[in-house]
Amino acid sequence: MAHCCGGNEHDSLAKSVADARDTILAASLPVQGTESIHLGNALGRVLATDIHAPANVPAWSNSAMDGYALRSMDGDAVRCIIGQSFAGHPFKGHVGAGECVRIMTGAMVPEGADAVLIQEQAEVHADQVTPQVVSKTGANIRQPGEDLQAGTLALEAGTWLRPAQIGLLASLGVAELAVYRRLRVAFFSTGDELRPLGSALGSGQIYDSNRYALHGMLQRLGCEILDLGRIVDDPEQIEAALHSAATMADMVISTGGVSVGDADYIAELLGRLGTINFWKINMKPGRPLAFGQLGDATFFGLPGNPVSTMVTFYQFVRPSILKRMGKAAPWTAPLVQIPLAEDLQKKGGRTDFQRGRLLLTPTGLQVTGIGQQASHIMSGMVHADCLIILAAEAEHAKAGSLVDIQLLEGLV
Ligand code: AMP
Ligand code: MG
Repeated sequence: MAHCCGGNEHDSLAKSVADARDTILAASLPVQGTESIHLGNALGRVLATDIHAPANVPAWSNSAMDGYALRSMDGDAVRCIIGQSFAGHPFKGHVGAGECVRIMTGAMVPEGADAVLIQEQAEVHADQVTPQVVSKTGANIRQPGEDLQAGTLALEAGTWLRPAQIGLLASLGVAELAVYRRLRVAFFSTGDELRPLGSALGSGQIYDSNRYALHGMLQRLGCEILDLGRIVDDPEQIEAALHSAATMADMVISTGGVSVGDADYIAELLGRLGTINFWKINMKPGRPLAFGQLGDATFFGLPGNPVSTMVTFYQFVRPSILKRMGKAAPWTAPLVQIPLAEDLQKKGGRTDFQRGRLLLTPTGLQVTGIGQQASHIMSGMVHADCLIILAAEAEHAKAGSLVDIQLLEGLV
């Protein structure tokens, strides 16, 4: 079996990060079921149908500023204020020659007016307005349909709903919408050394921390989470866990036991129970990774070292989850290029995902490593605000050179 191969870091059988991701994405199919939900519960869900604008947004012309609605053709002639138009309280009359209406941002532009003179450019005495400038037709007016025209495609099926998309749908008055059902993800950690939180640690034991980080990463994606707990390094118990996980979930994730040690059973079991790719990926951290199919479920066997678990989740599992959730445009963490503040060491032949921090220097933004890069150092992950990606070919990276980074925190 492929997983028996030895531990040479420059193994020619090892897969590149891009290859692994492509294979994973090709095998990650969207769930079929959809459901109708209220827009208020739709954050993070994926739209299952196209949504067209039922009407123009804005629906009517309105003022972009506080000021005076008037006829542009009358130039800078003095105007008499004949009324007011406030947001939600339109002026009902008509604006004629020598007239204007006091208007506030978002208020309907009254009939007859075709421009808004901003109040900073108006000299006002009692009900007389003397314009300091000549308004052009349409000045400071938001036109109907400027945002979305009635009938146009507002959002496509397969759109991941973030706050901006939700705001847009709300502006259309969409209350209920069809989204893909939640992805059910079952996960467990493996290892005889793992102990539950709150228990005393015996010799050689550690707390089962991965399961909590994994839980957090899945929670953020709005998955339906099935936490199957800790499983000891016993092939029968792992087999039972894999079986039950595959019957209840769309995706099964394990951590640990995926290398080639004597207590590493995941790859062997999966070879028997499903279809499995056991990869040594040309990357650090996160070299061993199992990916395959377990019944109807997508399976990921992530490495046990906590930083490796998180880095492989972000590089491989998150893109797969989003695709399986129905997101049409493939997601991978966006790359930004930033100059390095210092030399970084690496070995050639593998892609590094070093933990980094952004620095605002007098000459601009730079990125620096957080120091300790070993894959069991979770405090590095905590202090990092980005991953620095150093290409497989590179032997080291020089201060001042541009490197790709992925931000760990995103606005949307
Ligand atoms: P493994 O992949 O099982 O060989 O584990 C690699 C390293 O990760 C070992 O030091 C394990 O003790 C550690 N490890 C495995 N699972 C966990 C976990 N759930 N939480 C924290 N550390 C873990
Ligand atoms: Mg283990």
